[in-house]
Amino acid sequence: MDNEEFRHWAVRSAEWGADYRESLKDRPVRSRTAPGAIAALIANEPPEQPEPMEAIFADFEKKIVPGMTHWQHPGFFAYFPANAAPASIVAEHLVNAMAAQCMLWQTSPAATELETRMLDWLRQALGLPQAFSGVIQDSASSATLAAVLTMRERTLDWQGNRSGLSGGPALRIYTSREVHTSIDRAIWIAGIGEDNLVRIPVTGALRGMDAEALDAAIRADLEAGHVPAGIIASVGGTSVGGTDDVAAVCAVARRHGLYVHVDAAWAGSAMICPEFRHLWAGVEEADSVVFNPHKWLGAQFDCSVHFVRRPEDLVRTLAIRPEFLKTHGRDGIVNYSEWSVPLGRRFRALKIWFLLRAHGLEGLRAMIRDHVAWSRELAAAIGEEPDFEIVTSPMLSLFTFRHVPRGVSDLDAHNIALVNAINDDGRIFLTQTNVDGRIAIRFQAGSFETTRAHVLGALDVIRECAGPMKPAD
Ligand SMILES: *Cc1c(COP(=O)(O)O)cnc(C)c1O
Repeated sequence: MDNEEFRHWAVRSAEWGADYRESLKDRPVRSRTAPGAIAALIANEPPEQPEPMEAIFADFEKKIVPGMTHWQHPGFFAYFPANAAPASIVAEHLVNAMAAQCMLWQTSPAATELETRMLDWLRQALGLPQAFSGVIQDSASSATLAAVLTMRERTLDWQGNRSGLSGGPALRIYTSREVHTSIDRAIWIAGIGEDNLVRIPVTGALRGMDAEALDAAIRADLEAGHVPAGIIASVGGTSVGGTDDVAAVCAVARRHGLYVHVDAAWAGSAMICPEFRHLWAGVEEADSVVFNPHKWLGAQFDCSVHFVRRPEDLVRTLAIRPEFLKTHGRDGIVNYSEWSVPLGRRFRALKIWFLLRAHGLEGLRAMIRDHVAWSRELAAAIGEEPDFEIVTSPMLSLFTFRHVPRGVSDLDAHNIALVNAINDDGRIFLTQTNVDGRIAIRFQAGSFETTRAHVLGALDVIRECAGPMKPAD
């Protein structure tokens, strides 16, 4: 493809993107494709001869787009939306064109220096103290893995990378049942082992770790000859928004000299609004915090911000410096690849810069406040419907509910069938979860494109889909 052709197709694809965004509200949110149907449309063998772009592009529209679930749809209320605000998409177009590897300062000084600045902008936006600096990771899972590896190395006096873990005492990490599965996987990958992830019981409406039980578990482990290494606190669990009392967790951690990592992947964005910061009171005492601007803030996936109090500990855990990666003659530079597991890194700071400037913090705060207010309105309306019950009340914009018509014996199967009926309908997209052993339906407002009418209109869809499912009296 020569540059003139590239110009043509780059413009075409950008225009396609704008048309696509305009058409979203008329598309079913979840793809209606059956498993295997898209694969069946794709040739079994790679082409030997070049094909015209016109044909490739036409196939994209015909064969691929129908197999997409539309994450930017205003009716996307499942999981947590991965928002891509238009300003961040424009930044990504530019990043794609430059296609730089931003692993070291010298492999793109602007990428490194803008990242440092953006991390500090976001630190201020969230109201975190100056003691935190940070790095952009590809995902919260990677940030949490890096935190767990740091806990491990710190506890093993920085010998784990060299000596391995075999034969040593069991390292123990404490968390609740409400945390995301990325915590389990970080424990697996770090070699600590699922058996050493200690689940502390939760209490209260926010389902936070019981601090006394946490302290007791650590003491019991010490007596048993285990080695406590750290605590992972949750602010906004994915299932129902489970949130630990971070101040209480940090107080226990301090008593035992333990590292605290806070996973606020989706809820962290809400902390740009001062009135929500009570939900993570005490966070300034934590050692690291992760939140995903690619969720609620609207920075196109992927963009996960990992704040750390002691970057030197992270670097000591992850940095490796063969001669070919050294930059001689430059003092005081940051090489962000030493702050993360992968060596190569995309230029992710540009979209944050575009996004924050295009919307301003006030614009983003207004969106988040709206989502929270509309979710509460919807929860109140569902709570008043006959045959529905609210299972967990809104934590920011996330709540769960259940359809409980009389005469249905298996309510779990019934509610799973209802979720499927709603998603087949296509106007909105919801997912289910398990709350205390029973199925509940999640509602999570967080889409950049959603409006009050979309959120409150979800009730019509839910009611219409539930109506035919009620057993005949
Ligand atoms: C989404 C989410 C994650 C995982 O985020 P990735 O960036 O996809 O790894 C982790 N924790 C919580 C609470 C989340 O909501």
